[in-house]
Amino acid sequence: MKFLVFIEQREGKIRKASLEALSLARRLSGGPAAAALPGKGIAALAADLSRYGAGTVYVADREDLALYSNKGYVGVLDAAVGKESPDAVLIAATAMGKDIAPRLAARRGVSVLADVMDLRVEGGRLVGSRPVYSGKARAEADCGNATLQIATTRPNVFPAEAREAPAPRIEPLDPGEIAPRAKVLRVETSESKELDVSEADIIVSGGRGIKGPENWPLIRDLQQALGAALGASRAVVDAGWIDHQHQVGQTGKVVSPTLYVACGISGAIQHLAGMGTSKVIVALNKDPEAPIFKVATYGIVGDIFQIVPEVAKAVREMKKE
Ligand SMILES: Cc1cc2nc3c(=O)[nH]c(=O)nc-3n(C[C@H](O)[C@H](O)[C@H](O)COP(=O)(O)OP(=O)(O)OC[C@H]3O[C@@H](n4cnc5c(N)ncnc54)[C@H](O)[C@@H]3O)c2cc1C
Repeated sequence: MKFLVFIEQREGKIRKASLEALSLARRLSGGPAAAALPGKGIAALAADLSRYGAGTVYVADREDLALYSNKGYVGVLDAAVGKESPDAVLIAATAMGKDIAPRLAARRGVSVLADVMDLRVEGGRLVGSRPVYSGKARAEADCGNATLQIATTRPNVFPAEAREAPAPRIEPLDPGEIAPRAKVLRVETSESKELDVSEADIIVSGGRGIKGPENWPLIRDLQQALGAALGASRAVVDAGWIDHQHQVGQTGKVVSPTLYVACGISGAIQHLAGMGTSKVIVALNKDPEAPIFKVATYGIVGDIFQIVPEVAKAVREMKKE
């Protein structure tokens, strides 16, 4: 089966989620896959993609692709589909990927297997498993008899595997005139250079149990000890205790880290929808009946104001050893 993978880069850095999708394509096809890489000044990034499974990289390196536009980036992916004629396209289910996938599908008149957490090939067809009902159940789906099968892959679920490989074949790609209806003029990033929860391997999150924004240092201490990103429940975001970029959940970011530590978070279904697939979940809550304990791998019932500093201290001591 022939795969094409969309490669997302921001500010000249390839997103790990795209490398995960590329490695998955190599695993499913048993050989190299093709990749499509749009942007400006990004040609040098293409060489490294072979380590993750790219045999051919279609590079569209143009001034008008410097900033993301859905029309421009979908145009590049569509042009790469035209050149490569793949059986399947994989796109990481990041904010950008979720914007691109349905647009490519609409252009090609096919459907999308969205946000898959498991993907396999059965009789030449992709079969994906995806969470439904806010993560309460999993549904298996395929793309029917579509000539082009498109799937978006949930970040941090599939491993990005680097292996020694010869340099990829680089194919310059011209998507033609783009003429976007809306143009991104500039991107303003937040002042803080905080680790993004959707990219992080470890997340420490705080909820209403922290009592007030003046108590973030309690959570930050553990976050820093673990080298983690800072997450939050919607309750504390809505209360204005922290910026929305930290929110995990149905209306926040969907994360799947190796370790998720929930401090003073009840575990409402909408929060679980965003973190329920984390590999190890640690819950710290004073209420033994809190729903978060139903999904937790490990739990401590108690006051976070006592427990969190102890855990942070223990982590620091273990790291010293
Ligand atoms: C449409 C919709 C979308 C939503 N989207 C999201 C979303 O994306 N993300 C999200 O998080 N929520 C979302 N919510 C809100 C969700 O339903 C909950 O209201 C929210 O998650 C609760 O946040 P919390 O756990 O911080 O607060 P609470 O539910 O108030 O829980 C606080 C917890 O802290 C514990 N606690 C208190 N003091 C201490 C202490 N000293 N030590 C230890 N534990 C303590 C309590 O026992 C309690 O379990 C959404 C709701 C709706 C309706």
